[in-house]
Amino acid sequence: MTQRTLVLLKPDTVRRGLVGEVVSRFEAKGLTIVAMEHRTIDAAKADEHYAEHVERDFYPPLRTFVTSGPLVAMVLEGDEAIEVVRALNGATDGRKAAPGTIRGDLSLSNRENLVHGSDSSESAEREIKIWFPSL
Ligand code: GDP
Ligand code: MG
Repeated sequence: MTQRTLVLLKPDTVRRGLVGEVVSRFEAKGLTIVAMEHRTIDAAKADEHYAEHVERDFYPPLRTFVTSGPLVAMVLEGDEAIEVVRALNGATDGRKAAPGTIRGDLSLSNRENLVHGSDSSESAEREIKIWFPSL
């Protein structure tokens, strides 16, 4: 089933010059870029995006990190795009993510793990509205 999913290339991806590398992996897989924007978000936007995590202990430093510089937000489309993107991204902790995944190959951190991908169709719908309300 064709799906759309919200992907963020977090500020570490931009700072480390890995935008091309990461976008290439999604494109090479066959996903289509439906929308893409370079932007810097404030704390309110971070809290909206990460609403489910705002009360967690790990959230304050995560908020500082995601607002620390520009990121790239995009909407990707393709067959089973939500699950496919999560598989390409790899496990949350870059130290534990499997080699071959974006995090497994390129991140050594639980927080600065390069990418975000929506975790369900409900999340994708909610997040796409937050980032790209005109879609
Ligand atoms: P994801 O869906 O794989 O991105 O993971 P989650 O939705 O569980 O967490 C959101 C983001 O919060 C992760 O991508 C990490 O950047 C960060 N994060 C999650 N869990 C932890 C943690 O235990 N420690 C730290 N430092 N960061 C975390
Ligand atoms: Mg998540």
